[in-house]
Amino acid sequence: MSKKLNIYLAGPRGFCAGVDRAIEMVKEALKKYGQPVYVRHEIVHNKYVVENLKSEGAIFVEELNEIKDKSRPVIFSAHGVPKAVPEEALKLNLLYFDATCPLVSKIHKEVEHFDKKDLPVILIGHRNHPEVIGTMGQIKNEIYLVENVEDVKNLPLDKEKKIAYVTQTTLSVDDTKDIIKEIKNNFINVIEPKKNDICYATTNRQEAVKKIASNCDYFLVIGASNSSNSLRLVEVAKNYGSKKAILVEDVDSINLNIFENIENIGITASASSPEILVKKLLDKLKNNFDLNINEAHYQKENIYFKVPDSLKN
Ligand code: SF4
Repeated sequence: MSKKLNIYLAGPRGFCAGVDRAIEMVKEALKKYGQPVYVRHEIVHNKYVVENLKSEGAIFVEELNEIKDKSRPVIFSAHGVPKAVPEEALKLNLLYFDATCPLVSKIHKEVEHFDKKDLPVILIGHRNHPEVIGTMGQIKNEIYLVENVEDVKNLPLDKEKKIAYVTQTTLSVDDTKDIIKEIKNNFINVIEPKKNDICYATTNRQEAVKKIASNCDYFLVIGASNSSNSLRLVEVAKNYGSKKAILVEDVDSINLNIFENIENIGITASASSPEILVKKLLDKLKNNFDLNINEAHYQKENIYFKVPDSLKN
């Protein structure tokens, strides 16, 4: 008889509304304009998604000047872009569509709003992440990036001065609370975003992992190493009691020997990972073990972002 494994499946997991919309936009553009359609940066951070879209006729580039045929449409990724990117697209006479998640666009508007009020803006986020590059590129004035509590202490800003802060959407909810606390300890007049900038999908996926992590010997997070929300889920699983937690970038290459001396496995998928990869992983485990699957639903999600009408046929 095969070895028994208890599987704790986190819910919600996988695709969020912003990722769904961005992928849909590329598909609609391919339907409306034919092949190829260019996409600036990985539309969402997931190799499986990117490879699928490539096979349907999408060409991925990092910068607009890499586009060989300027008569073809281009789509900007869900992470958002600095203002300079649509400006360059206009100069190059490109037909472009912006798949920035509306929840990232909300932060762009916040930054502009604070800047118009002459407030220095602090951004809590990860240096070089495309979303952070996009947000920092919304205004001409400097945005002060902080990645941790230490960075807040070293900010070259007058502590008496009124300041505002925003955050990246895909951060650790817990770490960000500590950084915000430090900002409030250091500055006497802090203007906050109206609503938490960490998005609903990031929050729900982390909370769902927190609920089950302590049951688990091993937590598998299906995601990508350049995806902030994937990496945060691995950290959350470890911090909330899973003995081990790893990122699974390629379900096919997972070594089943790692499950030899364990009984309880947690599974989730990042906001940019499709459910088909969870199914693939479960099928692989089913073929080798006797599974007892427990699916926990922390929160029901019913958020949907519409694809722009201009992309409909
Ligand atoms: S993770 Fe959040 S901010 Fe990012 S695309 Fe999804 S819903 Fe939008």
